[in-house]
Amino acid sequence: MIKKKKYIKFILLAFILLNVRAFAEDNHHEHEDKQSQKASKNESIKAHQHGVGILNIAQENNKLIFEFELPGFDIVGFEYKAKKKEDIKKVKQAIKVLSDFSNMISLPINAKCEISYSNADLIIAGTHAEFFSKYILNCTNIIEINKIQINYFNSFKNSKKLNVNLVTNNKQEAFSIDKLKDTLNVKGYFIK
Ligand SMILES: [Zn+2]
Repeated sequence: MIKKKKYIKFILLAFILLNVRAFAEDNHHEHEDKQSQKASKNESIKAHQHGVGILNIAQENNKLIFEFELPGFDIVGFEYKAKKKEDIKKVKQAIKVLSDFSNMISLPINAKCEISYSNADLIIAGTHAEFFSKYILNCTNIIEINKIQINYFNSFKNSKKLNVNLVTNNKQEAFSIDKLKDTLNVKGYFIK
């Protein structure tokens, strides 16, 4: 019975996600430039909605992978290729802030997580741009992660909302969070 309920919940979630995607695409200015249709990363740029970023979190045993996909608008306030000095400065500063995991997320100290990889990039396609950042951490005590504090909203004033996809060893869940609700409660989500 419980299994069936979960299944229905999943179907419902998939349906909602599909609708959200359709909504985002309907409301977004389409681009005809061929380059933006090539790479899959650029596909996501085509579908993004200003004010809404994506955060993917994946557990691989003791390893945690965080990936942000953020509309340029939410990070620097524009999405054209920076040419003016002050715009170039804004992009450089944003990459610097994004490159530091602690500006984006805080994990419980007890989990003993150490960062092993961090990268931030800007990708421009047509009239749109997205910042991508990725972090890999190794946690000696991953089971101690009962909440994930999102610092991103404080680091970038234009940011509004994040759609979070979390996949752990035993669970898969989607969250929607914003400035007012910036912590994920994940008690019981992380097992070894
Ligand atoms: Zn855009």
